[in-house]
Amino acid sequence: VRARGLCGSLLLAGAFVGATWYARGYAPSYAGGFTGAPPAATQTIAWPAGATVNYKHWTGNAAATNVTGGNVTTAVDAAFASINAASGLAFTNNGTQAGTGAAASDSINMVTFANVAANTAAVGGALAITAFYYTIPSYQITEIDMVFNPSFTFTTNATSGQYDLQSVATHEAGHAAGLDHSPLCDATMFPFAYPNQTLLRSLEKDDVAGLRQLYPTAPLVFPLGYGTVTGQINLSTGGGAAGAHVFLTDAVRGTTGPGALTKPSGAFTIAGVPVGIYRLNVEPVNSPMSTSNLGLAGWSGVSFSTNFKTATLGGATPTLLAVKSGVTTTAAALTVTNTAPTLNPTAATTSSPATGAFGFSSGRPAVVAPGYAQFLQLWGAGFNALPDGAFSFDSPYVTITGPSTMNGTLAGSAFKQFPISVAAEAPAGGYAFKVVNAGETAFGAGLLSVSAPTTPVAAVTTYGASCPTTNPIVFATTGGAPSVGNAAFAIRATGTTPGRSVFFLLSIAPDAFVTAGNFSGASSCSILVDLNALVVPFPGFALTASTTTTTQPLAIPPVPGFSGLDVYAQAAEVDGGTGAIKLSQGALIAVR
Ligand SMILES: [Zn+2]
Repeated sequence: VRARGLCGSLLLAGAFVGATWYARGYAPSYAGGFTGAPPAATQTIAWPAGATVNYKHWTGNAAATNVTGGNVTTAVDAAFASINAASGLAFTNNGTQAGTGAAASDSINMVTFANVAANTAAVGGALAITAFYYTIPSYQITEIDMVFNPSFTFTTNATSGQYDLQSVATHEAGHAAGLDHSPLCDATMFPFAYPNQTLLRSLEKDDVAGLRQLYPTAPLVFPLGYGTVTGQINLSTGGGAAGAHVFLTDAVRGTTGPGALTKPSGAFTIAGVPVGIYRLNVEPVNSPMSTSNLGLAGWSGVSFSTNFKTATLGGATPTLLAVKSGVTTTAAALTVTNTAPTLNPTAATTSSPATGAFGFSSGRPAVVAPGYAQFLQLWGAGFNALPDGAFSFDSPYVTITGPSTMNGTLAGSAFKQFPISVAAEAPAGGYAFKVVNAGETAFGAGLLSVSAPTTPVAAVTTYGASCPTTNPIVFATTGGAPSVGNAAFAIRATGTTPGRSVFFLLSIAPDAFVTAGNFSGASSCSILVDLNALVVPFPGFALTASTTTTTQPLAIPPVPGFSGLDVYAQAAEVDGGTGAIKLSQGALIAVR
Protein backbone atom coordinates (compact mmCIF):
# COMPACT_ATOMS: atom_id res chain seq x y z
CA VAL A 1 0.00 0.00 0.00
CA ARG A 2 1.24 3.42 -0.81
CA ALA A 3 0.93 6.76 0.86
CA ARG A 4 -1.03 9.68 -0.43
CA GLY A 5 -0.88 13.02 1.21
CA LEU A 6 -3.23 15.93 1.41
CA CYS A 7 -4.26 18.03 -1.58
CA GLY A 8 -3.68 15.24 -4.02
CA SER A 9 0.07 15.24 -3.87
CA LEU A 10 1.65 11.84 -4.03
CA LEU A 11 4.12 11.88 -1.19
CA LEU A 12 6.12 9.01 -2.57
CA ALA A 13 5.37 6.89 -5.53
CA GLY A 14 8.02 4.25 -5.87
CA ALA A 15 6.67 1.13 -7.51
CA PHE A 16 8.16 -2.15 -6.50
CA VAL A 17 8.66 -4.75 -9.16
CA GLY A 18 11.16 -7.52 -8.74
CA ALA A 19 12.01 -10.85 -10.21
CA THR A 20 10.67 -12.96 -7.42
CA TRP A 21 8.69 -10.46 -5.39
CA TYR A 22 5.09 -9.94 -6.33
CA ALA A 23 3.38 -7.60 -3.97
CA ARG A 24 0.34 -7.09 -5.57
CA GLY A 25 -9.37 -7.24 -6.41
CA TYR A 26 -11.02 -7.06 -6.15
CA ALA A 27 -8.49 -8.74 -8.21
CA PRO A 28 -6.60 -11.86 -7.33
CA SER A 29 -2.89 -11.87 -7.89
CA TYR A 30 -1.98 -13.65 -11.08
CA ALA A 31 1.11 -15.68 -11.80
CA GLY A 32 3.36 -14.51 -14.59
CA GLY A 33 6.52 -12.71 -15.55
CA PHE A 34 8.66 -15.75 -16.21
CA THR A 35 9.46 -17.95 -19.18
CA GLY A 36 6.68 -20.43 -19.78
CA ALA A 37 4.23 -18.47 -17.62
CA PRO A 38 0.50 -19.07 -18.09
CA PRO A 39 -1.45 -16.58 -20.24
CA ALA A 40 -2.02 -13.18 -18.66
CA ALA A 41 -4.62 -12.89 -15.89
CA THR A 42 -5.50 -16.58 -15.82
CA GLN A 43 -3.60 -18.35 -13.06
CA THR A 44 -4.42 -17.22 -9.52
CA ILE A 45 -2.02 -17.73 -6.63
CA ALA A 46 -3.18 -18.86 -3.22
CA TRP A 47 -2.37 -20.90 -0.17
CA PRO A 48 -3.91 -24.34 0.11
CA ALA A 49 -7.44 -24.06 1.49
CA GLY A 50 -7.48 -23.79 5.26
CA ALA A 51 -3.70 -23.66 5.51
CA THR A 52 -2.02 -22.74 8.77
CA VAL A 53 0.61 -20.10 7.99
CA ASN A 54 2.98 -19.43 10.85
CA TYR A 55 4.62 -16.04 10.72
CA LYS A 56 7.39 -14.47 12.78
CA HIS A 57 7.70 -10.97 14.15
CA TRP A 58 11.19 -9.54 13.84
CA THR A 59 12.62 -9.33 17.37
CA GLY A 60 12.82 -5.54 17.07
CA ASN A 61 9.17 -5.00 16.10
CA ALA A 62 7.93 -4.50 19.65
CA ALA A 63 10.29 -1.57 20.03
CA ALA A 64 10.11 -0.24 16.47
CA THR A 65 11.03 3.44 16.54
CA ASN A 66 8.67 4.37 13.72
CA VAL A 67 5.53 3.16 15.50
CA THR A 68 3.76 5.48 17.91
CA GLY A 69 1.88 3.78 20.69
CA GLY A 70 3.70 0.46 20.61
CA ASN A 71 1.54 -2.65 20.36
CA VAL A 72 2.94 -3.63 16.97
CA THR A 73 2.25 -7.28 17.59
CA THR A 74 -1.35 -6.68 18.63
CA ALA A 75 -2.11 -4.53 15.57
CA VAL A 76 -0.49 -6.86 13.05
CA ASP A 77 -2.06 -9.95 14.58
CA ALA A 78 -5.50 -8.30 14.47
CA ALA A 79 -4.95 -7.56 10.80
CA PHE A 80 -4.18 -11.20 10.01
CA ALA A 81 -7.20 -12.26 12.07
CA SER A 82 -9.49 -10.24 9.78
CA ILE A 83 -8.11 -12.03 6.76
CA ASN A 84 -8.40 -15.39 8.52
CA ALA A 85 -12.09 -14.82 9.22
CA ALA A 86 -12.92 -14.26 5.56
CA SER A 87 -10.50 -16.72 3.97
CA GLY A 88 -10.48 -19.73 6.27
CA LEU A 89 -6.70 -19.50 6.43
CA ALA A 90 -4.95 -19.57 9.80
CA PHE A 91 -2.18 -16.97 9.76
CA THR A 92 -0.68 -17.52 13.19
CA ASN A 93 1.81 -15.52 15.25
CA ASN A 94 4.59 -18.03 15.83
CA GLY A 95 6.88 -15.90 17.96
CA THR A 96 9.86 -13.78 17.11
CA GLN A 97 12.77 -14.16 14.76
CA ALA A 98 16.21 -12.59 14.91
CA GLY A 99 17.78 -11.14 11.80
CA THR A 100 16.43 -8.05 10.16
CA GLY A 101 15.70 -8.41 6.51
CA ALA A 102 13.06 -10.19 4.51
CA ALA A 103 14.73 -10.10 1.14
CA ALA A 104 15.49 -13.74 0.70
CA SER A 105 13.30 -16.77 0.28
CA ASP A 106 14.18 -18.63 3.44
CA SER A 107 10.91 -20.38 4.33
CA ILE A 108 10.33 -17.90 7.14
CA ASN A 109 7.18 -15.77 6.91
CA MET A 110 8.54 -12.53 8.29
CA VAL A 111 6.91 -9.33 9.52
CA THR A 112 9.58 -6.68 9.90
CA PHE A 113 10.03 -3.00 10.70
CA ALA A 114 13.83 -3.23 10.58
CA ASN A 115 15.58 -0.15 9.20
CA VAL A 116 18.16 -1.92 7.06
CA ALA A 117 19.21 -1.40 3.48
CA ALA A 118 17.64 -4.59 2.15
CA ASN A 119 14.22 -3.62 3.51
CA THR A 120 14.51 -0.02 2.38
CA ALA A 121 15.37 -1.16 -1.12
CA ALA A 122 12.54 -3.67 -1.18
CA VAL A 123 9.82 -1.32 0.00
CA GLY A 124 10.83 1.62 -2.20
CA GLY A 125 8.36 4.48 -1.77
CA ALA A 126 5.53 2.31 -0.50
CA LEU A 127 4.23 2.40 3.05
CA ALA A 128 4.68 -1.33 3.18
CA ILE A 129 5.00 -4.23 0.82
CA THR A 130 4.29 -7.90 1.01
CA ALA A 131 6.43 -10.19 -1.06
CA PHE A 132 5.23 -13.67 -1.73
CA TYR A 133 6.77 -16.72 -3.25
CA TYR A 134 4.90 -19.50 -4.99
CA THR A 135 5.68 -22.78 -6.61
CA ILE A 136 4.70 -24.00 -10.02
CA PRO A 137 2.81 -25.86 -11.31
CA SER A 138 0.67 -25.83 -8.15
CA TYR A 139 0.72 -22.01 -7.97
CA GLN A 140 0.51 -22.31 -4.22
CA ILE A 141 2.06 -19.63 -2.07
CA THR A 142 4.94 -20.97 -0.01
CA GLU A 143 6.23 -17.88 1.80
CA ILE A 144 5.33 -14.27 2.51
CA ASP A 145 7.42 -11.42 3.89
CA MET A 146 5.78 -8.21 5.08
CA VAL A 147 8.06 -5.16 5.20
CA PHE A 148 7.05 -1.80 6.69
CA ASN A 149 8.82 1.30 5.40
CA PRO A 150 11.18 2.75 8.03
CA SER A 151 10.67 6.19 6.47
CA PHE A 152 7.03 6.43 7.53
CA THR A 153 5.59 6.69 11.02
CA PHE A 154 2.75 4.35 11.93
CA THR A 155 0.47 4.59 14.91
CA THR A 156 -1.49 2.27 17.12
CA ASN A 157 -2.97 5.04 19.25
CA ALA A 158 -4.52 7.33 16.63
CA THR A 159 -1.73 9.90 16.67
CA SER A 160 -2.72 12.63 14.24
CA GLY A 161 -0.91 12.74 10.92
CA GLN A 162 0.36 9.17 11.12
CA TYR A 163 -0.71 5.95 9.40
CA ASP A 164 -2.91 3.56 11.29
CA LEU A 165 -0.81 0.42 11.59
CA GLN A 166 -3.67 -2.04 11.73
CA SER A 167 -5.17 -0.56 8.56
CA VAL A 168 -1.95 -0.84 6.60
CA ALA A 169 -1.27 -4.31 7.99
CA THR A 170 -4.76 -5.54 7.01
CA HIS A 171 -4.12 -4.42 3.45
CA GLU A 172 -0.76 -6.20 3.46
CA ALA A 173 -2.33 -9.33 4.96
CA GLY A 174 -4.74 -9.29 2.02
CA HIS A 175 -1.73 -9.46 -0.29
CA ALA A 176 -0.33 -12.26 1.86
CA ALA A 177 -3.50 -14.24 1.14
CA GLY A 178 -3.13 -13.68 -2.62
CA LEU A 179 -5.13 -10.51 -3.36
CA ASP A 180 -4.09 -7.79 -5.76
CA HIS A 181 -5.36 -4.20 -5.67
CA SER A 182 -8.96 -3.06 -6.12
CA PRO A 183 -10.12 0.15 -7.83
CA LEU A 184 -12.99 0.58 -5.30
CA CYS A 185 -11.87 3.49 -3.15
CA ASP A 186 -13.34 2.15 0.10
CA ALA A 187 -11.93 -1.37 -0.29
CA THR A 188 -9.15 -2.51 2.00
CA MET A 189 -7.26 -3.54 -1.14
CA PHE A 190 -7.41 -0.04 -2.68
CA PRO A 191 -3.72 0.74 -3.35
CA PHE A 192 -3.46 3.95 -1.34
CA ALA A 193 -3.68 4.73 2.34
CA TYR A 194 -3.92 8.07 4.11
CA PRO A 195 -2.91 9.47 7.48
CA ASN A 196 -5.51 9.07 10.25
CA GLN A 197 -7.47 6.57 8.18
CA THR A 198 -8.76 3.45 9.95
CA LEU A 199 -11.14 2.38 7.20
CA LEU A 200 -8.88 -0.38 5.91
CA ARG A 201 -9.18 -2.31 9.17
CA SER A 202 -12.58 -3.64 8.13
CA LEU A 203 -12.97 -5.76 5.03
CA GLU A 204 -15.52 -4.52 2.51
CA LYS A 205 -17.73 -6.71 0.35
CA ASP A 206 -15.14 -6.39 -2.41
CA ASP A 207 -12.34 -7.74 -0.23
CA VAL A 208 -14.50 -10.59 1.04
CA ALA A 209 -15.45 -11.49 -2.52
CA GLY A 210 -11.80 -11.62 -3.56
CA LEU A 211 -10.95 -13.96 -0.72
CA ARG A 212 -14.03 -16.02 -1.51
CA GLN A 213 -12.83 -16.54 -5.08
CA LEU A 214 -9.44 -17.80 -3.87
CA TYR A 215 -10.88 -19.79 -0.94
CA PRO A 216 -14.41 -20.91 -1.91
CA THR A 217 -14.79 -23.08 1.18
CA ALA A 218 -14.11 -20.17 3.56
CA PRO A 219 -16.60 -19.50 6.35
CA LEU A 220 -19.62 -17.41 5.37
CA VAL A 221 -19.22 -13.73 6.18
CA PHE A 222 -22.64 -13.03 4.69
CA PRO A 223 -24.89 -15.74 6.11
CA LEU A 224 -27.31 -15.89 3.19
CA GLY A 225 -24.57 -17.12 0.92
CA TYR A 226 -22.90 -16.06 -2.30
CA GLY A 227 -23.48 -16.24 -6.01
CA THR A 228 -21.39 -15.42 -9.04
CA VAL A 229 -21.92 -12.90 -11.85
CA THR A 230 -20.26 -13.38 -15.22
CA GLY A 231 -20.40 -11.38 -18.42
CA GLN A 232 -18.54 -9.70 -21.23
CA ILE A 233 -17.49 -6.10 -21.85
CA ASN A 234 -16.91 -5.13 -25.49
CA LEU A 235 -15.50 -2.00 -27.10
CA SER A 236 -17.58 -0.11 -29.64
CA THR A 237 -14.65 -0.28 -32.04
CA GLY A 238 -14.51 -4.04 -31.72
CA GLY A 239 -12.93 -6.57 -29.40
CA GLY A 240 -13.14 -7.01 -25.67
CA ALA A 241 -12.26 -4.39 -23.07
CA ALA A 242 -9.16 -5.59 -21.18
CA GLY A 243 -8.58 -4.81 -17.51
CA ALA A 244 -11.79 -2.78 -17.16
CA HIS A 245 -13.35 -2.39 -13.72
CA VAL A 246 -16.76 -4.03 -13.52
CA PHE A 247 -18.55 -3.34 -10.26
CA LEU A 248 -21.96 -4.13 -8.85
CA THR A 249 -24.23 -1.71 -7.06
CA ASP A 250 -26.86 -3.05 -4.67
CA ALA A 251 -30.07 -2.04 -6.45
CA VAL A 252 -31.98 -1.74 -3.18
CA ARG A 253 -29.53 0.01 -0.91
CA GLY A 254 -27.15 1.67 -3.35
CA THR A 255 -24.02 0.27 -1.72
CA THR A 256 -21.14 -0.54 -4.07
CA GLY A 257 -19.26 -3.74 -4.68
CA PRO A 258 -18.04 -6.26 -5.18
CA GLY A 259 -16.32 -5.84 -8.53
CA ALA A 260 -13.68 -7.44 -10.69
CA LEU A 261 -11.40 -6.68 -13.60
CA THR A 262 -12.12 -8.00 -17.07
CA LYS A 263 -9.76 -10.51 -18.64
CA PRO A 264 -7.86 -9.59 -21.80
CA SER A 265 -10.82 -11.06 -23.75
CA GLY A 266 -13.27 -8.70 -22.05
CA ALA A 267 -14.89 -11.54 -20.07
CA PHE A 268 -15.32 -11.13 -16.34
CA THR A 269 -16.30 -13.20 -13.34
CA ILE A 270 -17.28 -11.71 -10.00
CA ALA A 271 -17.36 -14.52 -7.46
CA GLY A 272 -18.35 -14.15 -3.83
CA VAL A 273 -21.30 -11.82 -4.48
CA PRO A 274 -23.66 -11.67 -1.46
CA VAL A 275 -27.20 -12.76 -2.32
CA GLY A 276 -29.20 -9.77 -3.50
CA ILE A 277 -30.32 -7.67 -6.44
CA TYR A 278 -27.73 -5.61 -8.30
CA ARG A 279 -27.02 -3.19 -11.10
CA LEU A 280 -23.82 -3.65 -13.10
CA ASN A 281 -21.43 -0.87 -14.13
CA VAL A 282 -18.10 -0.73 -15.92
CA GLU A 283 -15.50 2.02 -15.73
CA PRO A 284 -11.91 2.47 -16.89
CA VAL A 285 -9.08 1.96 -14.38
CA ASN A 286 -7.79 5.47 -15.00
CA SER A 287 -7.41 7.04 -11.55
CA PRO A 288 -7.53 7.34 -8.67
CA MET A 289 -6.17 3.80 -9.15
CA SER A 290 -4.32 3.14 -12.39
CA THR A 291 -3.36 -0.07 -14.11
CA SER A 292 0.23 0.45 -12.93
CA ASN A 293 -1.06 -0.35 -9.43
CA LEU A 294 -1.68 -3.94 -10.52
CA GLY A 295 0.86 -6.73 -10.26
CA LEU A 296 1.85 -6.39 -13.85
CA ALA A 297 3.82 -9.63 -14.05
CA GLY A 298 0.52 -11.50 -14.03
CA TRP A 299 -0.86 -9.15 -16.69
CA SER A 300 2.14 -9.51 -19.00
CA GLY A 301 1.53 -8.28 -22.53
CA VAL A 302 -1.98 -6.97 -21.85
CA SER A 303 -2.98 -3.71 -23.48
CA PHE A 304 -5.37 -2.24 -20.93
CA SER A 305 -8.55 -0.58 -22.18
CA THR A 306 -8.77 2.71 -20.31
CA ASN A 307 -10.06 5.03 -23.01
CA PHE A 308 -13.81 4.51 -22.73
CA LYS A 309 -16.78 6.08 -21.03
CA THR A 310 -18.34 4.55 -17.92
CA ALA A 311 -21.49 2.56 -18.66
CA THR A 312 -24.31 0.80 -16.79
CA LEU A 313 -25.88 -2.39 -18.09
CA GLY A 314 -29.31 -1.42 -19.40
CA GLY A 315 -28.39 2.26 -19.65
CA ALA A 316 -30.99 4.66 -18.32
CA THR A 317 -33.17 1.71 -17.24
CA PRO A 318 -30.58 -0.40 -15.47
CA THR A 319 -30.85 -4.14 -15.79
CA LEU A 320 -31.49 -5.82 -12.44
CA LEU A 321 -29.43 -8.92 -11.76
CA ALA A 322 -30.70 -11.33 -9.13
CA VAL A 323 -27.83 -13.09 -7.39
CA LYS A 324 -28.75 -16.36 -5.72
CA SER A 325 -26.75 -18.58 -3.44
CA GLY A 326 -24.56 -21.04 -5.28
CA VAL A 327 -25.82 -19.90 -8.69
CA THR A 328 -23.95 -18.19 -11.53
CA THR A 329 -25.89 -15.33 -13.10
CA THR A 330 -24.79 -14.39 -16.63
CA ALA A 331 -25.26 -10.75 -17.53
CA ALA A 332 -25.92 -9.66 -21.09
CA ALA A 333 -22.86 -8.40 -22.95
CA LEU A 334 -22.24 -4.68 -22.52
CA THR A 335 -20.57 -2.56 -25.18
CA VAL A 336 -18.79 0.62 -24.08
CA THR A 337 -18.07 3.66 -26.22
CA ASN A 338 -14.33 3.86 -26.46
CA THR A 339 -13.88 7.58 -26.68
CA ALA A 340 -12.09 9.46 -23.95
CA PRO A 341 -14.07 9.99 -20.75
CA THR A 342 -14.51 13.59 -19.61
CA LEU A 343 -15.85 12.86 -16.11
CA ASN A 344 -13.68 11.27 -13.42
CA PRO A 345 -14.60 11.53 -9.75
CA THR A 346 -11.47 11.56 -7.60
CA ALA A 347 -12.44 12.13 -3.97
CA ALA A 348 -15.10 13.12 -1.48
CA THR A 349 -14.53 15.10 1.68
CA THR A 350 -16.75 15.94 4.60
CA SER A 351 -17.23 19.54 5.56
CA SER A 352 -19.20 21.58 7.99
CA PRO A 353 -20.04 25.28 8.01
CA ALA A 354 -17.78 25.72 11.02
CA THR A 355 -14.64 24.26 9.51
CA GLY A 356 -15.10 24.99 5.82
CA ALA A 357 -12.62 22.27 4.90
CA PHE A 358 -11.08 22.81 1.49
CA GLY A 359 -8.74 20.11 0.32
CA PHE A 360 -8.71 16.54 -0.82
CA SER A 361 -6.61 13.43 -1.21
CA SER A 362 -7.08 11.71 -4.54
CA GLY A 363 -8.93 8.45 -3.96
CA ARG A 364 -9.70 9.07 -0.33
CA PRO A 365 -13.32 8.38 0.63
CA ALA A 366 -15.32 10.50 3.01
CA VAL A 367 -16.23 8.39 6.04
CA VAL A 368 -19.46 9.35 7.82
CA ALA A 369 -21.62 7.82 10.51
CA PRO A 370 -25.27 6.92 9.90
CA GLY A 371 -27.37 10.01 10.47
CA TYR A 372 -24.72 12.37 9.04
CA ALA A 373 -26.34 15.66 8.03
CA GLN A 374 -23.54 18.05 7.14
CA PHE A 375 -21.82 18.76 3.85
CA LEU A 376 -19.94 16.75 1.29
CA GLN A 377 -17.45 18.07 -1.24
CA LEU A 378 -17.45 16.03 -4.44
CA TRP A 379 -14.15 16.23 -6.34
CA GLY A 380 -13.23 15.80 -9.99
CA ALA A 381 -11.82 17.89 -12.82
CA GLY A 382 -14.34 20.47 -13.95
CA PHE A 383 -16.91 19.61 -11.29
CA ASN A 384 -17.15 23.23 -10.10
CA ALA A 385 -18.58 24.20 -13.50
CA LEU A 386 -21.25 21.49 -13.67
CA PRO A 387 -24.87 22.25 -12.74
CA ASP A 388 -26.09 21.05 -9.37
CA GLY A 389 -28.41 18.60 -11.08
CA ALA A 390 -25.41 16.70 -12.43
CA PHE A 391 -24.77 15.14 -9.01
CA SER A 392 -26.75 12.47 -7.18
CA PHE A 393 -26.60 9.25 -5.17
CA ASP A 394 -28.36 6.10 -6.38
CA SER A 395 -29.41 5.16 -2.89
CA PRO A 396 -32.53 5.69 -0.81
CA TYR A 397 -30.27 6.25 2.19
CA VAL A 398 -28.08 9.08 0.90
CA THR A 399 -29.65 12.27 -0.40
CA ILE A 400 -28.37 15.64 -1.61
CA THR A 401 -30.76 17.87 0.29
CA GLY A 402 -30.23 21.28 -1.28
CA PRO A 403 -28.35 23.46 -3.75
CA SER A 404 -24.56 23.57 -3.72
CA THR A 405 -23.13 25.87 -1.07
CA MET A 406 -19.55 26.24 -2.28
CA ASN A 407 -17.25 25.28 -5.14
CA GLY A 408 -13.62 25.70 -6.01
CA THR A 409 -10.51 24.34 -7.67
CA LEU A 410 -7.27 22.92 -6.34
CA ALA A 411 -4.34 21.07 -7.83
CA GLY A 412 -6.04 20.35 -11.15
CA SER A 413 -9.19 19.11 -9.49
CA ALA A 414 -12.37 20.88 -8.54
CA PHE A 415 -15.29 20.38 -6.23
CA LYS A 416 -18.86 21.26 -5.55
CA GLN A 417 -20.12 21.17 -1.98
CA PHE A 418 -23.63 20.01 -1.17
CA PRO A 419 -25.64 19.47 1.99
CA ILE A 420 -26.34 15.77 2.28
CA SER A 421 -28.36 13.52 4.53
CA VAL A 422 -27.36 9.96 5.40
CA ALA A 423 -30.26 8.07 6.91
CA ALA A 424 -29.85 6.75 10.43
CA GLU A 425 -30.65 3.26 9.15
CA ALA A 426 -28.19 3.45 6.21
CA PRO A 427 -26.37 0.12 5.90
CA ALA A 428 -22.64 0.24 6.48
CA GLY A 429 -20.45 0.15 3.40
CA GLY A 430 -19.32 2.11 0.40
CA TYR A 431 -21.60 4.26 -1.74
CA ALA A 432 -21.05 5.88 -5.13
CA PHE A 433 -21.88 9.41 -6.07
CA LYS A 434 -23.00 9.78 -9.66
CA VAL A 435 -22.11 12.55 -12.08
CA VAL A 436 -24.03 13.00 -15.31
CA ASN A 437 -23.13 15.53 -18.01
CA ALA A 438 -23.82 15.75 -21.73
CA GLY A 439 -24.96 12.15 -21.94
CA GLU A 440 -21.96 10.82 -20.04
CA THR A 441 -22.13 9.22 -16.60
CA ALA A 442 -19.39 8.47 -14.09
CA PHE A 443 -19.33 7.10 -10.57
CA GLY A 444 -17.20 7.88 -7.55
CA ALA A 445 -17.34 4.23 -6.54
CA GLY A 446 -16.71 3.82 -2.84
CA LEU A 447 -15.92 7.50 -2.31
CA LEU A 448 -18.52 7.72 0.44
CA SER A 449 -18.20 5.17 3.22
CA VAL A 450 -20.88 4.85 5.88
CA SER A 451 -19.49 3.37 9.06
CA ALA A 452 -21.19 0.66 11.03
CA PRO A 453 -23.77 1.82 13.54
CA THR A 454 -22.88 1.63 17.20
CA THR A 455 -25.63 -0.89 17.77
CA PRO A 456 -25.46 -4.22 15.95
CA VAL A 457 -28.84 -3.79 14.33
CA ALA A 458 -29.16 -0.65 12.28
CA ALA A 459 -32.82 0.14 12.82
CA VAL A 460 -34.32 -0.10 16.25
CA THR A 461 -37.68 1.45 16.87
CA THR A 462 -39.39 1.33 20.22
CA TYR A 463 -43.14 1.08 20.24
CA GLY A 464 -45.83 0.73 22.79
CA ALA A 465 -45.82 -0.94 26.11
CA SER A 466 -46.21 -4.59 25.33
CA CYS A 467 -44.44 -6.84 22.96
CA PRO A 468 -46.16 -10.21 22.68
CA THR A 469 -47.77 -10.89 19.35
CA THR A 470 -50.73 -12.71 20.77
CA ASN A 471 -52.78 -12.21 17.65
CA PRO A 472 -50.32 -12.49 14.80
CA ILE A 473 -51.07 -11.37 11.34
CA VAL A 474 -51.65 -14.22 8.93
CA PHE A 475 -50.52 -14.02 5.33
CA ALA A 476 -52.02 -15.16 2.12
CA THR A 477 -51.17 -14.35 -1.45
CA THR A 478 -53.61 -13.28 -4.09
CA GLY A 479 -53.67 -12.30 -7.74
CA GLY A 480 -52.22 -15.51 -9.05
CA ALA A 481 -48.86 -17.16 -8.78
CA PRO A 482 -45.80 -15.11 -7.81
CA SER A 483 -44.33 -15.40 -11.28
CA VAL A 484 -42.09 -13.03 -13.11
CA GLY A 485 -44.10 -10.24 -14.71
CA ASN A 486 -47.33 -10.85 -12.75
CA ALA A 487 -48.52 -7.30 -12.21
CA ALA A 488 -51.62 -8.41 -10.31
CA PHE A 489 -49.79 -10.26 -7.57
CA ALA A 490 -50.48 -9.07 -4.04
CA ILE A 491 -50.04 -10.16 -0.48
CA ARG A 492 -52.98 -10.08 1.91
CA ALA A 493 -52.74 -9.88 5.66
CA THR A 494 -55.63 -10.80 7.89
CA GLY A 495 -55.83 -9.90 11.53
CA THR A 496 -54.94 -6.25 10.97
CA THR A 497 -56.65 -3.60 13.10
CA PRO A 498 -58.42 -0.69 11.42
CA GLY A 499 -56.62 2.56 12.08
CA ARG A 500 -53.25 1.11 12.97
CA SER A 501 -50.10 1.32 10.85
CA VAL A 502 -48.93 -1.74 8.97
CA PHE A 503 -45.51 -2.18 7.42
CA PHE A 504 -44.88 -4.82 4.79
CA LEU A 505 -41.29 -5.76 4.26
CA LEU A 506 -39.81 -7.97 1.60
CA SER A 507 -36.56 -9.65 2.44
CA ILE A 508 -34.23 -12.43 1.40
CA ALA A 509 -34.34 -13.89 4.90
CA PRO A 510 -37.48 -15.18 6.63
CA ASP A 511 -36.74 -13.37 9.87
CA ALA A 512 -35.51 -9.97 8.78
CA PHE A 513 -38.08 -8.48 11.08
CA VAL A 514 -38.25 -9.50 14.74
CA THR A 515 -39.34 -8.06 18.03
CA ALA A 516 -37.10 -7.82 21.02
CA GLY A 517 -37.09 -6.25 24.40
CA ASN A 518 -39.34 -6.95 27.27
CA PHE A 519 -41.44 -9.91 26.28
CA SER A 520 -43.25 -9.91 29.60
CA GLY A 521 -45.27 -6.96 28.45
CA ALA A 522 -44.34 -4.87 31.44
CA SER A 523 -42.32 -2.29 29.60
CA SER A 524 -41.39 -1.17 26.11
CA CYS A 525 -40.67 -3.34 23.10
CA SER A 526 -38.51 -2.90 20.04
CA ILE A 527 -38.82 -3.99 16.47
CA LEU A 528 -35.48 -4.98 15.03
CA VAL A 529 -34.93 -5.04 11.31
CA ASP A 530 -32.07 -6.75 9.49
CA LEU A 531 -31.53 -4.07 6.87
CA ASN A 532 -29.02 -6.13 4.97
CA ALA A 533 -31.66 -8.71 4.15
CA LEU A 534 -34.31 -6.33 2.82
CA VAL A 535 -35.35 -6.38 -0.83
CA VAL A 536 -37.15 -3.06 -0.56
CA PRO A 537 -35.69 -0.28 1.58
CA PHE A 538 -36.81 0.18 5.15
CA PRO A 539 -39.61 0.74 6.17
CA GLY A 540 -40.97 -1.14 3.18
CA PHE A 541 -44.58 -0.55 2.21
CA ALA A 542 -46.35 1.45 4.90
CA LEU A 543 -50.10 1.78 4.98
CA THR A 544 -52.95 2.35 7.38
CA ALA A 545 -55.17 -0.66 7.90
CA SER A 546 -58.77 0.09 7.09
CA THR A 547 -60.23 -3.30 7.77
CA THR A 548 -59.26 -6.57 9.34
CA THR A 549 -57.90 -7.66 5.97
CA THR A 550 -55.22 -5.50 4.37
CA THR A 551 -53.99 -6.13 0.86
CA GLN A 552 -50.73 -4.81 -0.52
CA PRO A 553 -50.26 -4.90 -4.31
CA LEU A 554 -46.85 -6.30 -5.14
CA ALA A 555 -46.35 -6.29 -8.88
CA ILE A 556 -43.44 -8.54 -9.77
CA PRO A 557 -41.23 -6.85 -12.37
CA PRO A 558 -40.80 -8.54 -15.74
CA VAL A 559 -37.14 -9.17 -15.00
CA PRO A 560 -35.97 -12.69 -15.89
CA GLY A 561 -33.33 -12.51 -13.18
CA PHE A 562 -36.02 -12.60 -10.51
CA SER A 563 -36.97 -16.13 -11.43
CA GLY A 564 -35.76 -18.50 -8.77
CA LEU A 565 -35.24 -15.80 -6.19
CA ASP A 566 -36.63 -16.67 -2.79
CA VAL A 567 -38.29 -13.67 -1.21
CA TYR A 568 -40.05 -13.53 2.12
CA ALA A 569 -42.85 -11.17 3.07
CA GLN A 570 -43.39 -10.01 6.60
CA ALA A 571 -45.68 -7.47 8.19
CA ALA A 572 -45.85 -5.68 11.49
CA GLU A 573 -48.68 -3.66 12.90
CA VAL A 574 -47.99 -0.88 15.36
CA ASP A 575 -49.81 2.12 16.73
CA GLY A 576 -47.06 4.07 18.43
CA GLY A 577 -49.02 3.86 21.64
CA THR A 578 -49.60 1.16 24.16
CA GLY A 579 -51.20 -1.51 22.04
CA ALA A 580 -49.38 -4.76 21.41
CA ILE A 581 -47.32 -5.09 18.29
CA LYS A 582 -48.55 -7.67 15.87
CA LEU A 583 -45.89 -9.36 13.84
CA SER A 584 -46.25 -11.95 11.14
CA GLN A 585 -44.05 -14.91 10.49
CA GLY A 586 -42.07 -14.63 7.28
CA ALA A 587 -44.01 -16.06 4.35
CA LEU A 588 -42.05 -17.42 1.43
CA ILE A 589 -42.92 -15.85 -1.87
CA ALA A 590 -40.79 -17.89 -4.21
CA VAL A 591 -40.69 -16.12 -7.52
CA ARG A 592 -40.67 -18.72 -10.30
ZN1 LIG B 1 -0.94 -3.07 -1.78
